Amino acid sequence: MHTLAIDIGGTKIAAGVYDEEDKILRRWQIPTPSNGQVIDAQLANMYREAKEEFSDIAGIGISAAGNVKADRRTMSFSANIPTWIDYPLADKLEAAIDHECPVVVENDANCAGWGEYIAGAGKGSTNMVMLTVGTGLGGAIVINGELYRGSFGMAAEAGHLPMVPDGDTCNCGLRGCAERYTSGSALERFARSAIRRWPEKSDRLMELAGGVVHDLRGQMVTQAAKEGDDLALYAFGKIGEWLGRTMSALAAVLDPDCFVVGGGVVSIGDILLEPARYNYVRFLEAAAYRPHAQILAAGAGNDAGMVGAADLALREAKAHQA
Ligand SMILES: [Zn+2]
Repeated sequence: MHTLAIDIGGTKIAAGVYDEEDKILRRWQIPTPSNGQVIDAQLANMYREAKEEFSDIAGIGISAAGNVKADRRTMSFSANIPTWIDYPLADKLEAAIDHECPVVVENDANCAGWGEYIAGAGKGSTNMVMLTVGTGLGGAIVINGELYRGSFGMAAEAGHLPMVPDGDTCNCGLRGCAERYTSGSALERFARSAIRRWPEKSDRLMELAGGVVHDLRGQMVTQAAKEGDDLALYAFGKIGEWLGRTMSALAAVLDPDCFVVGGGVVSIGDILLEPARYNYVRFLEAAAYRPHAQILAAGAGNDAGMVGAADLALREAKAHQA
C-alpha cells in the first residue's frame, strides 16, 4: 500500500509517494496557482501521475497552510488562497478522482508536528509540543500519542498565546502575542533595535544589511551570530528567552515531556535553545519539584510536513478499508 502526500505552500505544491514505513519513493512539485479552483484539478493530476507508477495509492494526505476544520476535510481559511473560505477541499478532490481513495486535510504546522513525532526529534515521546519558529510561531500538540486538534480544529496556535498584556500589535489584530517576541520577524526586530541602541557594535550587521538597518534579514542575523557577533547573539538571546517563557506557559497547561523546536532559525542550535531551556525552567511552576521537559531541535528536516501528511493518509486509508 502507498500514500500520496501533498504539501500546498504559498509558492509551490510539493507531492511525494510514500510507503507504509514513511519512506519517500518519488517526489515532484509544481508552482501554486493563484486560483483556488485550478488547484483541485492540479491535485487530481498529481494523483493520476502517481498512479501511473504506483497503482495501489490508498489515500491522499494534504498539508495546507491555513485553518482546517475539525472534520479534516474543509479549509475554513487560508491566507495563501483567498477563495478557500469554508472550502470542502477533500470532497472536491475525492470527486475529481472518482472516489478512488480517501483524502485527509491537515494544517501544515500539525503535519510537521506529526512528522516530528513519528520520525523526528519527538519519537518516543508521549506528550509533545512542537513550536516552529518561522515568520510567525507555529504550534502542534501531541497528547498520549495522538495529534490534539481541539473541538474546532483550532488548537495549538501557540504563536497567539497572549504573553504581554497590551504588548506589540500582532498580525492577528490582538496585542502581545507570543510570535511578536519569538519568531523570525521578532529576531529581525530585536537585531534592528540593538543596532540603534549600540551603534558602536553594529559594524558586522550593518555590513550584511548593505548599510540599511531596515534591510536586515533573519539569515543575516543568523550568519552574524554564527560568527560570534555580539548584537546578533543578543537578538537570538531575546527570542530564545521568549521561546522559553512561551514553553513554560504551555507546560502549565499541557505538562509535555518534550518540546521540539523547528523552523529555519533552529539551525543556530544551542544559541537559540540554551536561553529557551534556561527561561523555560525560570518561569516553570514548581520547577524544583518536577521533571523538566526536553527541549530539542527538530530532526525530520524540511520533509516533516510531508511525512506527517503521508502517515495521516495511511491511517485514513486503513480506517477506510477496515
Ligand atoms: Zn496574534
